[in-house]
Amino acid sequence: MTLEARHVLEFPGGYTRTTGPVIGRFLTELRDGRLVGVRTAGGRTLVPPLEYDPGTGDAVTGDFVEVGPAGTVESWSWVHAPRAGHPLDRPFAWALIRLDGADTSLVHAVDAGDVKAMRPGLRVRPRWRAERTGQITDIESFVPEVTRIVSPVRTEYVLKPGLALARFLEGVAAGVFVGCRCGSCHKVYVPYRLSCPECGIAITEEVEVPDTGTITTFAINNLPDPRAPEVPFVSAYVLLDGSDVPMITLVGGVAAHEVRQGMRVRAVWVPEEERTASMANIKWFAPTGEPDAEL
Ligand SMILES: [Zn+2]
Repeated sequence: MTLEARHVLEFPGGYTRTTGPVIGRFLTELRDGRLVGVRTAGGRTLVPPLEYDPGTGDAVTGDFVEVGPAGTVESWSWVHAPRAGHPLDRPFAWALIRLDGADTSLVHAVDAGDVKAMRPGLRVRPRWRAERTGQITDIESFVPEVTRIVSPVRTEYVLKPGLALARFLEGVAAGVFVGCRCGSCHKVYVPYRLSCPECGIAITEEVEVPDTGTITTFAINNLPDPRAPEVPFVSAYVLLDGSDVPMITLVGGVAAHEVRQGMRVRAVWVPEEERTASMANIKWFAPTGEPDAEL
C-alpha cells in the first residue's frame, strides 16, 4: 500500500514582496505599456533590469532606457500541453527574447501557433493586456511580427494593339504574315512595325511573307505550358522566308529531340472558322520535310 498525503501551499491573500527601485521601475513602466532596461556602469542595458551588474557585481546606474517593444528570439522550448497557470491555453513557446536595444534577454511566452513557426532570429512583439497592473503578465505573450500577407489578385485589362500590331493581327486572322520593308536598309520585319529599329526612319512599305521558314535557334522546355502540345515541347526562333528577323513560336508535329537548327517548318493554322485576330491562330510550326536550310 502506498501512503500519500496531498498538500497545498497557498497564500490566499497573496504573498506580498517589495520590488525595490529597479524592478519597481520596470513593473511601473510595464503597467504603462513600456519596456525599460537599466544601464550598467560598463554601458550594457539589462532587460529585465537587475540591481547589480551580474558581470561585475557593481550596482547598476540609475539610468533607465526604453527598449523594444520588438525583439528577437534567441532560443525557445515548445510547450505541447499547457498547464494551469501557463499564460496561454494552447501550445506555445517559452523563449529567450532579446528586445531591441537590450544586451540581455528576457523569458516570455511566444504565441506562434505552430512549433514550425519558431526559429532563432524570429522577430516578435508584445501583445499587451488591456488591463495592466504592473506585472510581467501585463504582456499576455509575444507574437511573431507580420512578415507576409496573402491578398487575392485579379486584374482585368484590355490590350489595344496599336496601328502596326493591329495590321499584323488582321493578317494573321486572314492566315497571312504581314511584314514591312525599310526603305533605307531594305530589311523586312515581321511582325509589321512602323519604324526601322536600325535606321530609325518610318516604314511605309507593307509586304506579305509566306508561312514557311527555318529554325534558327530553339529550346526544349520541360515545364508544361497551356499552349504547348505536350512536355517536353520546343520553342524556337523561326526566320520566315523573305524576312530578316526571326519570330518566336512553338514547334509541333515532331519529337523534341529531332528538332534542329536549319530545319524547315511551316505554320499550322487553326481551322478558319476558329480564327480570331490573335497569335492563337497559329498552333505551332511543323516540319515541312524539305532538306535543312543553310544558316
Ligand atoms: Zn532600315
